[in-house]
Amino acid sequence: MPASRCNLPIEEQEVHKKYVKNNAKLYFNYATMNSGKSLQLMSIAHNMDERHIPTLTIKPSIDTRDGENKIYSRIGISRDCRMFSPEDDLFDLISDENGGRISYNSYLEWIFVDEAQFLTEEQVDQLSDVVDYLGINVMCYGLRTDFKSKLFPGSKRLFELADTIEEIKSTCECGNKTIINARVDKDGNVLKNGPQTLVGGDDRYISICRKCWKRSI
Ligand SMILES: [Zn+2]
Repeated sequence: MPASRCNLPIEEQEVHKKYVKNNAKLYFNYATMNSGKSLQLMSIAHNMDERHIPTLTIKPSIDTRDGENKIYSRIGISRDCRMFSPEDDLFDLISDENGGRISYNSYLEWIFVDEAQFLTEEQVDQLSDVVDYLGINVMCYGLRTDFKSKLFPGSKRLFELADTIEEIKSTCECGNKTIINARVDKDGNVLKNGPQTLVGGDDRYISICRKCWKRSI
């Protein structure tokens, strides 16, 4: 355990090691845009609310299109969340929310992360520490790739570190599985160039299959 992660005396650390929850996992559920990621997150979290399982939902502040401290799905349901910035240490943030408890004594049982593609690589490492040292499950939802079909840094690190990786599938107009989050101009033409992140306009993106994307650029 890195020294910065635990200030307990060594003999207490041994006790925590003995009883640490070994079944916590880092999950990455990835998809294209508008595939129901946020809806699935909220559905699972709501189910836990009903069973009185303590959870925390967090989201990068780079994505403020929904307003502060809320996640919305396209079908109109929402959930409160805690926003964080790229500079935040997510291990520290979650430790605070967890009341400073560690390992077997943790209060929180699940962390849900929306828009996980916007995590920094360091923040994904920090989330893996939350799993390994606090014994809390972390379930991330995010996009696999950007509009140029390249991995987002946060998604790349999640593919490298996650225990469980699952795809949420959706279908292109042609019937194939969607792969690409294509960026389009106001006339619907697919764009090839531009910055990786252009937050604030779902209408500027369409989810399409690889074949349709190749045909359109
Ligand atoms: Zn297609």
